[in-house]
Amino acid sequence: MRLVDLLLPARCVVCSAFGELVCEQCAEGLPRLRAPLCARCGAPTAWPVARCRECAGRRLAFASARAAVAYDDHVRTLVAAWKEQGLRALARFAAASVVELVERPDAEALVPVPSDRDRTLVRGHHAAEALARELGRSWGMPLAPLLHRARPVPRQRGLALAERRRNVRGAFVTGERPPPRVVLVDDVYTTGSTVAAAASALRRAGARRVDAVTFARTIRAR
Ligand SMILES: [Zn+2]
Ligand SMILES: [Zn+2]
Repeated sequence: MRLVDLLLPARCVVCSAFGELVCEQCAEGLPRLRAPLCARCGAPTAWPVARCRECAGRRLAFASARAAVAYDDHVRTLVAAWKEQGLRALARFAAASVVELVERPDAEALVPVPSDRDRTLVRGHHAAEALARELGRSWGMPLAPLLHRARPVPRQRGLALAERRRNVRGAFVTGERPPPRVVLVDDVYTTGSTVAAAASALRRAGARRVDAVTFARTIRAR
């Protein structure tokens, strides 16, 4: 925690109300993701399915992807504040949301998706790693930062799905052999391309099963 956070009265990062970093009303109003979901990619569906329209036919290296909340405008504001200010309390808040809504995967370690080094340096911290650390505390699972960026990846924002996939292909490498089952952790699941590329690197390095967990997930219009 920075000194300035101790000196200033806290304001809700979503609605700016004085009090807590996420006020009770905003916390309660989060668009929580609940069943039925696509078993594979975690998209909300009308009934439980093994694969949905969003992920059918895609080769995905992860066994499942789950998120706590939908990435709507409020959550976008929250995630932006979390990433820009690096507040540990927000990482803790995100982890608590995940623990509330996502079943603990049966795995040996949590692997954060590494952020682009240049962008991390600007922000000076790393949201996915902070989330993985907090989840590790709650789930009693060790943190294993096994993934590294093979090369800087151009920004994914604004790219079409096919471009995103091309963009991240081969983007990650592992230094060591991962345990058989790992949980990949990231802040936001957008199209799944980044998580799939990271899972693919872990599988190539010997992981048998990779489950992905994120705080938020983009929900495409159905
Ligand atoms: Zn609020
Ligand atoms: Zn799906």
